[in-house]
Amino acid sequence: MPKAQETVLEINLKALKHNFEHLKSKIKDNTKFLAVVKAFSYGSDAKEIAKYLQHLGANYFAVAYASEGVELRKAGITLPILVLHPLPANFNAIIDNCLEPNLYNTKVLNEFIKVTTSKNLNNYPVHLKFNTGLNRLGFNKNDIASIVSKLKETNSIKVASIFSHLAASEDLNEKAFSLNQINTFKTIAQNFINSIGYKPMLHMCNTSGILNYPEAHFDMVRSGIGLYGFGNSEKENQNLIPIASLKTIISQIHTVKKGDTVGYNMAFKSNADIKTATLPIGHADGIGRQYGNGKGYVTINGEKAPIIGNVCMDMIMVNITNIDCKEGDEAIIFDANNTAESLAETANTISYELITGISKRVKRTFLK
Ligand SMILES: *Cc1c(COP(=O)(O)O)cnc(C)c1O
Repeated sequence: MPKAQETVLEINLKALKHNFEHLKSKIKDNTKFLAVVKAFSYGSDAKEIAKYLQHLGANYFAVAYASEGVELRKAGITLPILVLHPLPANFNAIIDNCLEPNLYNTKVLNEFIKVTTSKNLNNYPVHLKFNTGLNRLGFNKNDIASIVSKLKETNSIKVASIFSHLAASEDLNEKAFSLNQINTFKTIAQNFINSIGYKPMLHMCNTSGILNYPEAHFDMVRSGIGLYGFGNSEKENQNLIPIASLKTIISQIHTVKKGDTVGYNMAFKSNADIKTATLPIGHADGIGRQYGNGKGYVTINGEKAPIIGNVCMDMIMVNITNIDCKEGDEAIIFDANNTAESLAETANTISYELITGISKRVKRTFLK
């Protein structure tokens, strides 16, 4: 591994391949694999990750918003791309870029049909989302009759898939809730297929769904966090490798006397003579203020150095009193061993939030 000389997010494509293959080994050969690459592939890099997953044999991609899909098309992604949260303002961009919208309520269904009809399109692929308990986006089961009668009036769109989303797939204490969602989805799918007269693909599982509910893999699974190396449990984490390492260097070392303070608003007051290191990474890079004041830490030469005082926009200060290190040495914010998941826990959040928040200012490098 090259030592960092500035703040970098190093992305290990070998680890991505390992995670993809591990998740694929959990599904049947004829079950399709949709890779969720929303939010710059969970904060890593949209283009390189999607290109590599396309090369590895993913079958589908999903993004949250239309603009993310447009970026993937510009990067040369040719696989189908499901837009999970399209808005009517983006329907032209969706169609111009051959993106496939999730239609989640009557308003977006009607408006999308209006646009596809006016463009004289035929069988444009769309996906229908049903709410089975998350209460976020999706039609309800008693909408089926009205959806089907709408669909029978037009040939401008065709339903490529119907899907739903689990609310607590990682939490086995909520197994009864998840099983109820799965059963509700099965009923919805059967009713829909019976009334429309053809069978779209069915899908429901995210990463933890893939791992915990093999009976709900249906025709396709949708994985995000697992590809990036997190399994949402200690046991599943063993089989996955975090793909992103966030590293920086020590810019300056200070000796701070007993009674002196460190950082804005004198938030840290030293009760002994200590040594601190200033690092070129701050809340504008994605290390939020909640990691300050002793909660979060970085790793320097194998030792934990707690963040002291308030996180600044472009810098943090860490306590290195008992660490053998010098200016220019590498500091690891997270990597495959000092994981983003454990750092996130120090601030009462989850890996998803920490990794998707690493800002565009941080240089991305790739290990191939
Ligand atoms: C983000 C998202 C996923 C991916 O979930 P992971 O837990 O990251 O695997 C799957 N499906 C939908 C609808 C999503 O919004």
